[in-house]
Amino acid sequence: MIALDSPVGAVLGASKSAEKFTKGLGLSTVGDLLLHFPRRYLNTADLTKVDELREGDYLTVVGEIVRSEVKEYTDRRTGRRAARLETVLGTDGPRLQMTFFAKNPRVTHWQARRLASGTRGVFMGKVGSFRGTWQLTNPQLVLFGDADADDGEAAEAMMTVEELTALFPIYPLTAGLESWEVMRAVRFARTVVDEVPEVVPESIRTAYGVIGAREAFDWIHAPDDWAQVKAAQRHFRFEEALVLQTVLARRRQFARTIGAVPRTGGGDLLARFDERLPFALTAGQDAIGVDIERDLAQPHPMNRLLQGEVGSGKTVVALRAMLRVVDSGGQAALLAPTEVLAQQHYRSITALLGDLAGGGLFSDGTGVELLTGSMTKSQRTGPLSRLVTGEAGIVIGTHALLEDQVQFFDLGLVVVDEQHRFGVEQRAALTDKAGTPPHVLVMTATPIPRTVAMTVFGDLEVSTLTELPAGRAPIQTSLVPLAEHPQWQGRVWERVREEVAKGSQAYVVAPRISGDEHEQGESDAVDRDEEGNVLSAPGSLSAVVEVAEQLAEGPLHGLRIGVLHGKLAPDDKDRTMRAFAAGEIDVLVSTTVIEVGVDVANATAMVILDADRFGVSQLHQLRGRVGRGGLPGLCLLVTHAELGSPARARLDAVAGTTDGFALSQVDLELRREGDILGASQSGRFSSLQNLRVLRDERTIVDARAAATTLLDADPDLTGAPELARMVAEIERTEGAQFLERS
Ligand code: ADP
Ligand code: MG
Repeated sequence: MIALDSPVGAVLGASKSAEKFTKGLGLSTVGDLLLHFPRRYLNTADLTKVDELREGDYLTVVGEIVRSEVKEYTDRRTGRRAARLETVLGTDGPRLQMTFFAKNPRVTHWQARRLASGTRGVFMGKVGSFRGTWQLTNPQLVLFGDADADDGEAAEAMMTVEELTALFPIYPLTAGLESWEVMRAVRFARTVVDEVPEVVPESIRTAYGVIGAREAFDWIHAPDDWAQVKAAQRHFRFEEALVLQTVLARRRQFARTIGAVPRTGGGDLLARFDERLPFALTAGQDAIGVDIERDLAQPHPMNRLLQGEVGSGKTVVALRAMLRVVDSGGQAALLAPTEVLAQQHYRSITALLGDLAGGGLFSDGTGVELLTGSMTKSQRTGPLSRLVTGEAGIVIGTHALLEDQVQFFDLGLVVVDEQHRFGVEQRAALTDKAGTPPHVLVMTATPIPRTVAMTVFGDLEVSTLTELPAGRAPIQTSLVPLAEHPQWQGRVWERVREEVAKGSQAYVVAPRISGDEHEQGESDAVDRDEEGNVLSAPGSLSAVVEVAEQLAEGPLHGLRIGVLHGKLAPDDKDRTMRAFAAGEIDVLVSTTVIEVGVDVANATAMVILDADRFGVSQLHQLRGRVGRGGLPGLCLLVTHAELGSPARARLDAVAGTTDGFALSQVDLELRREGDILGASQSGRFSSLQNLRVLRDERTIVDARAAATTLLDADPDLTGAPELARMVAEIERTEGAQFLERS
């Protein structure tokens, strides 16, 4: 009996090509083979008559290669050696010239071996004409083989035109293997496999219009029409989404069974804080505050993500949550990703609290402590002891908070700022300090599209601050394209001088620290195409140290210039930040260390050098540093990227909108999905097979609802054994860590 977990050899036999499936494509079971889906389909329904060609037509034609030749040349643009394959295709009508370009000469030589003369196949592409000959450039193709092969067996095994289906599957291949061979192997496998297990229960399939597994395999590999392809894709995407959403739903269920101390208030610190707050809360801050209060009162831990644009007032929301916990007799910790941010949070929180900050026997406030890695042992002694006694209700710090000697009296709430920079283990370490699991609030300024939130952070509740507090001035963003207008660089520095002359301050951001030194975790992003070929190598990028020197001697001579980057001693960083905040520095030349949360109201301009080196969301966050004090902000994106390049398109998107959500969608479309999910560092599902979080929003939403329905009715999934098995498998691997962390 052949099943999905039978070795793939069971359907391949001992043929020579078996190894190409196992080693070349990495398929080990029959199931792997059936899950090796076509990359696309060649529409062969109507083969074109070659004598009726018009330029620009799409042509699908059967033919035989009559000449094939590799031409080496030097690429004028890159100056590198390159190779193209030139072939002539014999058809029923006139001959066609076909040219194949590839970035990698090795690809060209591989194509040359596939497309030796005598090879027959179907070719599809857009017709052009050149000096009276019809031409196809990089056509798609399905090869049948060489009709005159000496090897009689090989010639016999070849594909025939009769086997050409209307939508012919084109599979991801490996050297020496053609699509039709994969098609045949898959066809055989489909006929001999006895049973295809059904992951999605029938009731759900009926409710959501999802076809069965057997049909889905038939239709994905051998469709009669596009509708079948679509239905099959829907099946596989839904299945994947359902498994993920079931895992997440079970986590949410599980989280509700974990005990936590309800924090229901009692003190009046929060009330007194609200009274003295110099502004009214926005409607969003108010509503989320109510949600958080309700969460904190539950006997299981809050697990909430607070997202909102830079400047939307997340800190106030977090501080109110912390005060609520202090009012309940507990303590709260705020974990920041960098020293600069921890210090800034400390300053702004103590400022917001005024004389409510300060512990001690005769105080009616609470102690607020700062704990960072740069503090000496003796500097820490005081804060550490006030945390143990509970005299301090609030502590703000960096990873130093995670160290063993940090003990709490009663840690009730952990606020994590910009969670992207925090690993799961670090969060778990703070959880451990609380004894019982604390409530957790995660803040992020990187807007996360709904489906990503549902997929990657599916076990979090999400709150979103959608409006900015009133009185925020708009940021104007302009592109400075040096490729076309090199002289505009001078104008950029004049603009900076004008801002400074008005009494304002400016940031200058560069991608490097100096020479080859980068901020931790960053590198020169190299653009690559899908095959990993390098499209553009990083040239010499602007570096903070050198730029600062050049500006001081040249265009910004006479201004007070400061330098900030991650390699500076924490004391120096802090001193520089303070000096900038105090207006003692006019222009701060910096790496992305100023990225998140830095708040200097008097800074109105930002110049980002080599802006194409930064991600869309990162640029958006960076520019959020200016225009915070009610003065209009200006952001200049300086780039050498050429007009029409993808990099320029990205920058245009940033210049074109200040809507962080729209930009996060752009980011998602541009980056590879895996990067996005991986970037969460969450250790959750880091790879998706058939799902795309943007494209498949509807499917993900449906699957989430379906998972909830299923689990409510049947918590152990006894009615869906295959789903239960797959969920259990994920829980065994990823879930094991999850349970430990909870
Ligand atoms: P975020 O952390 O979301 O970037 P912050 O919490 O730092 O934003 O708030 C940005 C600025 O707006 C701070 O100076 C803060 O005091 C102020 N702010 C917050 N909420 C309001 C509000 N409702 N009305 C007016 N100003 C506010
Ligand atoms: Mg902030």
